[in-house]
Amino acid sequence: MDQLSHVVIAGAGIGGLCAALALTKQGRQVVVCEQAATLSEVGAGLQISPNALKVLRHLGLEDELRPFAFVPEYAAIRDYKTGEYYLKSPLGTSAESRYGAPYWHLHRADLHRVLVEACLQAGVELVLNAAVVSYRENLERQPVSLLLEDGRVFSADLLIGADGIRSKVREQMLGQERPTFMGQVAWRGVIPVSDLTVDVKPDACVWAGPGRHFVSYYLRGGDYVNFVAVEERSDWLSESWREEGNVDELKRAFAGWHPEVSELLQSARSTFLWALNGREPLSTWHQGRVVLLGDACHPMLPFMAQGAAMAIEDGYVLAKCLSRHSLKDALFQYEHLRKPRATKIQQMSKANAGLYHMHGDVLGRMKLTALQVAGRFVPN
Ligand code: FAD
Repeated sequence: MDQLSHVVIAGAGIGGLCAALALTKQGRQVVVCEQAATLSEVGAGLQISPNALKVLRHLGLEDELRPFAFVPEYAAIRDYKTGEYYLKSPLGTSAESRYGAPYWHLHRADLHRVLVEACLQAGVELVLNAAVVSYRENLERQPVSLLLEDGRVFSADLLIGADGIRSKVREQMLGQERPTFMGQVAWRGVIPVSDLTVDVKPDACVWAGPGRHFVSYYLRGGDYVNFVAVEERSDWLSESWREEGNVDELKRAFAGWHPEVSELLQSARSTFLWALNGREPLSTWHQGRVVLLGDACHPMLPFMAQGAAMAIEDGYVLAKCLSRHSLKDALFQYEHLRKPRATKIQQMSKANAGLYHMHGDVLGRMKLTALQVAGRFVPN
């Protein structure tokens, strides 16, 4: 096996931190360079399905995270107006006994904080204010160097690009190419339950409607409701991929929907607006001593709620491959194991947009979704 003692990671998102923790537990020295000045996450919810939770369990984080989780009773798809159920699939204890791990809702900030604390405790070096601009492969003893905007250089035996959808590492490896706007925007927000005037069911619920859909679920033991409201748009003029959203515009977009949606939105005080971007599957995920993971190599629409889950799986599988093979074989194996799965979920997420927005044979395709919802819990 190659001597691989030092690893440098670009990006302290969920994927980068999972990789850092898994590699540090193997006894490697890991430095993570993060462009942000502080490690505070933008507040919103994440659905963590059993496949991702099994990885977090292996990383020793399940007990730390449990107090912040909410366990939904059902995964549901409902009609935007009548509230009729197209799909009602049990989660809760059923998911746990069927898949060997629970289905949780977590606040992104809680997951991120627990990961940061675990990394620091394990000995990961986290460098903030560290905007990556490029990398250089050398022939010296530590053959790859990460270059920061302020001139600092971090050298290692392996560079992991976990720097998200606008990855600088991906750009240098495969050329400059802007992500594609997928014709949808998403408002996200979190509402304290004490502000609600409507009873929200304890489910992971998608409300499907023409040209738009709405997702709602509880967070933090049921103290908050998280919402994601998606609307099709042909134009997106803003250069920013994430900006403050207009709550009145959001309420207008979902006026006339089932009271569980329209009344819930009456309690929304603020929201962020995301442009949903994607990329075609990349020709390769690695080159020399550089490898990509998470949104840096397979950004996806959030309509399977699997983007973070795939980044978590990537980090863990990459570390496992590095512990079993030479560097060259490990990177090959990693891509071989991960790319078909991530690509399939990218495609399924895209297909769900048409389903949730009632394009075509909705009822027939809802049945297919029931199978997909079940399928997504199966770990590889
Ligand atoms: P990121 O989280 O983007 O992290 C990248 C990190 O790199 C960031 O910290 C960034 O600051 C840093 N960085 C970027 N550029 C540089 C640079 N040049 N130098 C240094 N650092 C840099 N996923 C789920 O599993 N479940 C869900 O329920 C879910 N819901 C979602 C809802 C919405 C509306 C959206 C938009 C996404 C959702 N996702 C969900 C997807 C999930 O958020 C992402 O797929 C996941 O966060 C990707 O993780 P990552 O670590 O690869 O990238």
